[in-house]
Amino acid sequence: MSGVFAYESSKVDWCEDNYRHSEHVVEYFNTVSNLIFFIISPIMLYLLHPYARERNLAVHLVWLMMIFVGLFSLYFHMTLSFMGQMLDELSILWVLAVGYALWFPRKLFPSFIKDRRIFSRMVLIITVITTVSSFVKPTANAYVLNIFGLQLLYVLWTEMKRCTNQKAVRLAKRMAALWVLAIACWISDRFGCGFWQKLNFCYLHGIWHLLIVMAVAYGTTLIAYLDANYEIPYSFPRIQYWPCDKWEMGLPHIVLEGNTKLRKGC
Ligand SMILES: [Zn+2]
Repeated sequence: MSGVFAYESSKVDWCEDNYRHSEHVVEYFNTVSNLIFFIISPIMLYLLHPYARERNLAVHLVWLMMIFVGLFSLYFHMTLSFMGQMLDELSILWVLAVGYALWFPRKLFPSFIKDRRIFSRMVLIITVITTVSSFVKPTANAYVLNIFGLQLLYVLWTEMKRCTNQKAVRLAKRMAALWVLAIACWISDRFGCGFWQKLNFCYLHGIWHLLIVMAVAYGTTLIAYLDANYEIPYSFPRIQYWPCDKWEMGLPHIVLEGNTKLRKGC
């Protein structure tokens, strides 16, 4: 059992040189870059609080769990242990599961599911079963993760096609660009390591950490904005950027401008 906690017991090893800067930290930059999770998550918790208070405080679970993703990712890259890998991957599954349970549109629920409470319980059961079975068959996680992720992506895609709010459209484009860039870094580190080693630049997986946290900040705000228009339309949700809304730079979030029960478009 202690073997799963042992250094380098995972089959995965990223491009960065092992033990280059410390004898206790296997991948130094990949470990340190996780600090971004602990910077962005509390700010997003604060920025999304007005929306969460109006909609459901469970919204906070997304960014609370992101802190755990950062923590487990840090542990994984520090040790490259099998347990670190499992915790890292499973924490991503739980973030997606929470987002899926919260934001999957009610109108797309299967007919036998009457409300979001039952839907959320079903998602919880699936996630618990996947978590347990991942310890027997680690690929189980990847399947369910993709099912949750691709469905949320589909929802965003169909919603954005008929969205007329230009600020939301720009947010969606930036989010897509961040995702593409992040995934390109991940793939390049995984499969193009020889090339990057020649250039002596093996930091792409660490850069993936930085980009993916920003991509999640953009993604959660966008989906929360669309959700607010359906679930709490009387609150007049509006997208704003912190710290600089004028240039639309920084972290996007939602401000609620009203409380009359009127519906707004998009
Ligand atoms: Zn990582």
